[in-house]
Amino acid sequence: MAKSRRQDREKRPDIFKQWQAGDWKDEHTLKDRRRLTPKRHVKKDLEVSLEAFDVVGWGRVLEVHRRSTVVAIENAEVEEYARCRLAPFLDLSDYSAVTVGDWVQVSKLKQGGEEFITDIRPRVSKLSRPGPDDREHREQILAVNIDQIVVVSSVLQPAFNAGLIDRYLVAAEYSNIPLVLVLNKMDLADELPEELEDFKAIADKVLPVSVVSGEGLEDLREVLKDRFSVFTGSSGVGKSSLVNKLIPGLDIRIGDVREKDGKGRHTTTSSTLLELPWGGAVIDTPGIRGMGLWDLKPSDLATVFPAFEPWFGHCKFSNCSHLHEPECAIIDAIEEGELSVARFHSYERIMMTLEARK
Ligand code: GDP
Ligand code: ZN
Repeated sequence: MAKSRRQDREKRPDIFKQWQAGDWKDEHTLKDRRRLTPKRHVKKDLEVSLEAFDVVGWGRVLEVHRRSTVVAIENAEVEEYARCRLAPFLDLSDYSAVTVGDWVQVSKLKQGGEEFITDIRPRVSKLSRPGPDDREHREQILAVNIDQIVVVSSVLQPAFNAGLIDRYLVAAEYSNIPLVLVLNKMDLADELPEELEDFKAIADKVLPVSVVSGEGLEDLREVLKDRFSVFTGSSGVGKSSLVNKLIPGLDIRIGDVREKDGKGRHTTTSSTLLELPWGGAVIDTPGIRGMGLWDLKPSDLATVFPAFEPWFGHCKFSNCSHLHEPECAIIDAIEEGELSVARFHSYERIMMTLEARK
């Protein structure tokens, strides 16, 4: 059953390729969506109309700051960055907010030349996590229009953290986005961690690599090619080393954007997008690094816990917590050796943290 859902995802349109081909399935026009929603920080006379703007082009949102959004504008002739505000007439009811990965239209104000986001394309995918209770369970969207999440972990130094992978898998499942598990520093280990076997059955792909020996790097390149990937993992596992190895001489583009800002890096709030010279892009979003902070209803955990998927829905009680109930399909599966005890313990641990948050 777990497999069928994965196969389903494989049939989804390839977001990167659609973007490259300019083949975005979007019939909306700005006028459809136009609705005057004045914002306090925008001057009254800007509320007027589209005619006040010259369209510069479409682009992808790289960073979102409190007062402005950085967009990489793409078209055949120019490639430039814009630091934009939201046009006052934009109807954002379908969009919680502009997010990293959004495709947006950038226009310049005829008078003054300031840049504004004047339209947004419908999103194809979104990576989110359930928001805190006090915000009415509103989800927090971390990135949109992405093809996959690439979680980097290391076999040693720091030790393989299976519990964290489970959390990422839950987030991926919750968002219905494929997850690739990269296991770095293979040069330090003689064998694969035992629990990796579990993930081979659950993750969409598992890739052992080493920056030092070069093992698996070609495969990783291939996995990243022509896709938008969120690239994440705990600190020290070798994300920067991997990116530097894969893209020699990088950093220039993003460095430029930051320089214009004049305030240095906003490491806590902003995400970044790096384009890969061979096609595709990796997005680093700080929001997902603290995967321990998300908040899901404890009773919903089992529905998005990928290791349980083959047995889910087969318990005697429909509200089974899979912790102690009789005739629980999950507990039976463990007793019959079909489901790994390690994954079950991980479920218990995540459940405990969710309960503690209530
Ligand atoms: P990040 O925090 O995930 O960006 O991790 P870094 O790229 O800064 O790497 C952390 C440390 O791990 C550095 O000292 C790297 O030299 C080291 N490192 C990265 N990749 C490998 C690898 O494949 N093998 C070994 N032995 N060390 C690595
Ligand atoms: Zn059960």
